[in-house]
Amino acid sequence: MGKSPSTDTDHLIVVRTKTGLRARVDIWRQAGLKVAMVPTMGALHEGHLSLVKLAKANADKVVVSVFVNNKQFGPSEDLATYPRDEQGDMVKLNTVEADLMYAPDRGEVYPETFSTSVNVDGVTDVLCGAVRPQFFGGVATVVTKLLLQTLPDIAVFGEKDYQQLCVIKRLVRDLDIPVDILPGPTLREHDGLAMSSRNVYLSDTGRMIAGQLNQVLRGAASAIHNGEAVGTACDQAWQTLLDAGFDTIDYLEVRDPENLNALGPGPIDEPARIFAAAWVDKTRLIDNLHIQ
Ligand code: AMP
Repeated sequence: MGKSPSTDTDHLIVVRTKTGLRARVDIWRQAGLKVAMVPTMGALHEGHLSLVKLAKANADKVVVSVFVNNKQFGPSEDLATYPRDEQGDMVKLNTVEADLMYAPDRGEVYPETFSTSVNVDGVTDVLCGAVRPQFFGGVATVVTKLLLQTLPDIAVFGEKDYQQLCVIKRLVRDLDIPVDILPGPTLREHDGLAMSSRNVYLSDTGRMIAGQLNQVLRGAASAIHNGEAVGTACDQAWQTLLDAGFDTIDYLEVRDPENLNALGPGPIDEPARIFAAAWVDKTRLIDNLHIQ
């Protein structure tokens, strides 16, 4: 069977209610089709689209949710200014042949009497969880809802948000949600900056500084891989980021890729990943890399 051409603007179905979503997914499941889901907050870029392509390669139908989840933003964070571009998102989703965009409004996801939250202990205590206390509760709650509303066979999440991926793997296991979680690699700009909807906040100068985050982490990862002590490599990388123009660094740490336990401060030879969050232009950038 031939697929629709990438210019087919009629391919994408847009659904705004969970009943509409369930009805459509039910039809697909009854037809024996495998369904994948890619949860997003919209303002889609090539990184998101790479996840849709990965989903498409692993399933017959792909649902992309677009919902700016208010519950994962702290009171002083950027919920009000978070970039939104629903029309642009639809066009982009058509080019990668996504089948359905689920774009509920806030009341559809969180009705007035909504009073349940999902919290994952342990892996949420460190890194982003330590500096954004309500973040992972909000993420875990919305992802649980989106998975239960859609009931996909697989769900794709980016390694760009590696800790989030760990949290989601843990929650589907703990809550017996029957879905396979598929990680997607981080898509980057030419200078290594991880693509992010928030990169539009950066000024020209901030954008130049931002590229250093990946380059400095790359240097530290390679030094640690070659036997440098974790503490020394992280201290040096921290200072290099400040010298490059970053305003503040929330964390720069090496951790176990499965349970996120801290590693170091000496040399290591076990599996490891390096993680950082740093601020430039009042914008918080995160990145992480495999070390070994
Ligand atoms: P967001 O819209 O930022 O909530 O992200 C939605 C999904 O896209 C998450 O699974 C992210 O990890 C993933 N994602 C964001 N940026 C990238 C990127 N540069 N490369 C690959 N996946 C990404």
